[in-house]
Amino acid sequence: IIQWGQPEHSVITTCAYCGVGCGFKADMKGNTVVRMTPWKDGKANEGHSCVKGRFAWGYATHKDRITTPMIRENITDPWKVVGWDEAFEFAAKRFKAIQAKHGVDSVGGITSSRCTNEETYLVQKLVRAAFGTNNVDTCARVCHSPTGYGLGQTLGTSAGTQTFKSVEEADVIMVIGANPTDAHPVFASRMKKRLRQGAKLIVVDPRRIDLVKSAHIKADYHLALRPGTNVAMINALAHVVVTEYLFNAEYVAERCEDKSFIEWRDFVARPENSPEAFEAETGVPAEQVREAARLYASGPNSAIYYGLGVTEHAQGSTMVLGIANLAMACGMVGREGVGINPLRGQNNVQGSCDMGSFPHELPGYRHISDTTVRSQFEAAWGVPLSPEPGLRIPNMFDAALDGTFKGLYCQGEDIVQSDPNTQHVMAALSAMECIVVQDIFLNETAKFAHVFLPGTSFLEKDGTFTNAERRISRVRQVMPPLPGLADWDVTLKLSEALGYPMRYKNPGEIMDEIAALTPSFAGVSYAKIEQHGSVQWPCNEGTDLLGTSIMHKDKFVRGKGKFFITGYVPSREKVTQRFPLLLTTGRILSQYNVGAQTRRTANNVWHSEDVLEIHPHDAQDRGIREGDWVGIESRAGRTVLRAQVSERMQPGVVYTTFHFPESGANVITTDSSDWATNCPEYKVTAVQVVAVSQP
Ligand code: SF4
Repeated sequence: IIQWGQPEHSVITTCAYCGVGCGFKADMKGNTVVRMTPWKDGKANEGHSCVKGRFAWGYATHKDRITTPMIRENITDPWKVVGWDEAFEFAAKRFKAIQAKHGVDSVGGITSSRCTNEETYLVQKLVRAAFGTNNVDTCARVCHSPTGYGLGQTLGTSAGTQTFKSVEEADVIMVIGANPTDAHPVFASRMKKRLRQGAKLIVVDPRRIDLVKSAHIKADYHLALRPGTNVAMINALAHVVVTEYLFNAEYVAERCEDKSFIEWRDFVARPENSPEAFEAETGVPAEQVREAARLYASGPNSAIYYGLGVTEHAQGSTMVLGIANLAMACGMVGREGVGINPLRGQNNVQGSCDMGSFPHELPGYRHISDTTVRSQFEAAWGVPLSPEPGLRIPNMFDAALDGTFKGLYCQGEDIVQSDPNTQHVMAALSAMECIVVQDIFLNETAKFAHVFLPGTSFLEKDGTFTNAERRISRVRQVMPPLPGLADWDVTLKLSEALGYPMRYKNPGEIMDEIAALTPSFAGVSYAKIEQHGSVQWPCNEGTDLLGTSIMHKDKFVRGKGKFFITGYVPSREKVTQRFPLLLTTGRILSQYNVGAQTRRTANNVWHSEDVLEIHPHDAQDRGIREGDWVGIESRAGRTVLRAQVSERMQPGVVYTTFHFPESGANVITTDSSDWATNCPEYKVTAVQVVAVSQP
């Protein structure tokens, strides 16, 4: 029950929405939240918050919360409410039977970026130690996995290079494929403040986002490229930097690998990588690209901020490599005001990746085939671990349809709504024999589940989140878990039922194990976080007590920075006579991802549906007016939305969000994915749009 009234005590905790990770003070009356206000000492937000985070507590006690475990033999049966022990026994028996019949690798788990570091660590441990397989993956697969790959390869660590505060020193800000005003509002305010002070702005985005022109802010360059041409654009920018000798030769000589730089320099200098050569492909006038490249290279401090418009492409990893190439060539890594800054979508994307939720990596991004690393975990966990990488999420779906993957433990993720090509996902889930969903609501995925384990909201959690600037903050329990068990305890008890008991008295003990086994988390402890408010990894010996605000200061984590060749490959999603428009997707300020929480929050009084933004010319060609129903069809599927006729769009490109299950944006998106990480290509789908009379 949540009601207004006079608070009796307060608890400091962390917002559970976006990757900014704002600190909040929950004012309490008993176990009731009276209000939440931004924490003035929160380093990520410095006393600010957005409308989404400020009212985030409403959904925690929504009537749709499920607080009792449930089981059913078949997904067509009604749910049967049971006690915790019966649910654990039911799930364990099914998983064991599947493994006995189909082999140890016939099951797996999916972790969530909405859960704490400690909860995520436990799920990957359960999968590896109790199931005995590396079939564990995280929802970061479908958002920032190319960031992990690209920054790991070029710089040596899979994380943003800066603290948020660093933007206050930037002279030139390049925003690529991100819409901070809607998706990272508190950081956007900080960025806008710097822009109002005179910093220059380059926006690379197919859509005219708010930053391009809003109150007191006007982008110096808006490179409104066609969806799917990011790599052509970054190569064109690099071409100008190289051929006009704008790169920082001294920095490159001192900090980067000679051979890789020369190969990259010679590659991007080719005429086929020039802005003129790519003009028809990207749709951006070559002279604009040239001027933007000169501005970025001139700095003196130039910073790149990017989002899912970079990563969610078939060449998402190539684009991250390309961004790192450009930043290193211009000497824009390793000090205040510069850097490569992935804006993480969810509160704990960074943490879920750090915690070893990938099928090929143990905590701290160490490959599972590394015998030395694996033996450390084997000694600590008391079980042998497989050296073979497991299945990624899309591979799990494919294997399910092949009949070789039969059981899934899915914590805090609604994969039916959030993953691309919904029909394919539903067919895969229907083919499985045991799906355990742990969530706070009966989400779309739960329709395919055999066991439902009630989860907890962030107000009931005890643990830590790691934000987009590697800042580890405490998530403190504001009220007791409504289902009676905390999420970490649920995983513990499921593991015990599977025959692998794990012993922790509290999440602090889990963090102690993480810190002992994960070099990037060495030195992290609850005591240290209590003392300093938060810490930024790495914070071990040799770093500042509060951790590392700027990475790669004197040298890159991998030693010398490495350049990669980034050949442009056009997207498979091409416009044709049948599908003449390109659809791209994104978010709005008032909603968060699949909307499970924000749709159940009282402040959500506007934006009650997903809409299709369409340019006036494209609308007129089709006889579509503002508010009309339109059918959108792609190679993957069809859905119906209301039209919003908008000059934010360029002709030939349409846009929607994916916050409402009935809209079915991901019914249309295809299963094209990134070559290196399988991150889905949500941002490019060839579609046709037609006026329809009703949904
Ligand atoms: Fe901060 Fe993001 Fe939460 Fe808004 S949604 S309060 S910006 S963490």
